Amino acid sequence: MKGANYIDGRWVEGAVPFETVNPSDLDETVGSYTKVSEEDVRAAMAAARRAQPAWGAFNMQARADILLKAAEIIKARAQDIGLLLSREEGKTLPEGVGEALRAAQCFQYAAGDVVRAQGEWYNSMRDGFNVLVTREPVGVVAAITPWNFPIALPSWKVAGALAYGNSVVLKPSSFVPGCAVMLAQILEEAGVPAGVFNLVMGDGRATGNVMIDEADALTFTGGTATGRTVLARAAETMTKCQLELGGKNALVVLDDADLDLAVDIASNGAWIQTGQRCTGTERLIVTRGIHDAFVERMAKVAASYRVGHALDADTQIGPVANVQQFNENLQFVADAKAEGAQVAAGGGAVEGRTRGLFMAPALLIGTKAGWRCNQHESFGPIASVIMVDDLDEAIHAANACQYKLSSGIATTSLKNAERFRKASQAGMVTVNAPTAGLEYHVPLGGRAPSGYGPRETGTAAADFFTESKTSYINHGAI
Ligand code: NDP
Repeated sequence: MKGANYIDGRWVEGAVPFETVNPSDLDETVGSYTKVSEEDVRAAMAAARRAQPAWGAFNMQARADILLKAAEIIKARAQDIGLLLSREEGKTLPEGVGEALRAAQCFQYAAGDVVRAQGEWYNSMRDGFNVLVTREPVGVVAAITPWNFPIALPSWKVAGALAYGNSVVLKPSSFVPGCAVMLAQILEEAGVPAGVFNLVMGDGRATGNVMIDEADALTFTGGTATGRTVLARAAETMTKCQLELGGKNALVVLDDADLDLAVDIASNGAWIQTGQRCTGTERLIVTRGIHDAFVERMAKVAASYRVGHALDADTQIGPVANVQQFNENLQFVADAKAEGAQVAAGGGAVEGRTRGLFMAPALLIGTKAGWRCNQHESFGPIASVIMVDDLDEAIHAANACQYKLSSGIATTSLKNAERFRKASQAGMVTVNAPTAGLEYHVPLGGRAPSGYGPRETGTAAADFFTESKTSYINHGAI
């Protein structure tokens, strides 16, 4: 695995070396990799194009078996993957291992998709005719992933693409490429033919541009600003696109909520996994009657968390994943204070036993829906509370934000829950449940500008990873 790029079945070393550091301990180097040239990225795209037709025509059972084998290997190595993930991205070890197991499940599910029926047969308006609607691989898929789910996210993109007979070129985040390298090793070991899966590392824009220009389809997860750039580029070549982007997700807590449950799901959504989830709860919209009790309980929970080194057994909240995000988080809290927010808990750097990027989970109170802190994604362990009078105002506040990824409500009233579920403009809604994570059998995603194009997972995966073909057959002439 020299250089850790995998192109056309070979491990390739690029000219530009780079290293990753452990966010739990900035004195520890985790991985050494190299970035390849644009020419190498073109070679990866070309290899994927050469390999795709044979993979698209590969025996169905054999293709499913390869994906299942990949799932089994991931499962068997979940501890190793989880450990690397914890060291490179900063999730606690149980979170890292859990993510690896979820990645295995994505491959397992995708293996089933290989053999599921893929076509419809219709009667025709013309006598003696029939109409056949079939699905074909979209072709070469470019997959670009962010840093916050370094094994699950590449896995659900790659598994879906491969299941439907596509070849793939994956570019992981430069902050956390280690798990993608492990994935490449596993796919090689599972028997994915040379060129069908390729891994390249490089600067986002330069590498991304080549991939977008030369792919048939792009599946991208990352920030909304990057998503806009990527979409503009894809428009030039009309590359099919699906983008999963940023969020500023709201949880509404009504007076009639079960307070214990509301605190549980709000704290989980806001702070667990260091708040580094696209569906993380960043806005807590709370009605007046329950507001003070809710805030008091939330502040206590925030203060009770053990923040520290991701590999310490008692750590509940690991470090922020990288220096850039850490600085942005602290600045976010400072800006919120400047616009009038009060800090009910956390918000500052925390000393640890190592030189890590530790931050105390923050609860900001006294904020208004239109403030910057409620309009911009923080992507850190920071939640702000907006007090409202009733459900109408709560719905308005929840929707009064450009992001439309996920939302939730805590209430014991079925009527209120259903009103909110229908009125929410988010792509995913939870009722009395922590913010949505990936359930691999159903679509995940938001409406623009939190998402764009078809969803990529579960029952929706076929919409993106295949093209539909409608055939009219005159049986009378055969
Ligand atoms: P970025 O948008 O910064 O980067 C995402 C990926 O895009 C990286 O691999 C990056 O490469 C690459 N990239 C950067 N610039 C370009 C470009 N011009 N063309 C093509 N690719 C490019 O996101 P982060 O990694 O910081 O991830 C955090 C963001 O991801 C948050 O906004 C979060 O909400 C969102 N996200 C959304 C999810 C969803 O399902 N909706 C799920 C998870 C995260 P490099 O690292 O080399 O710069």
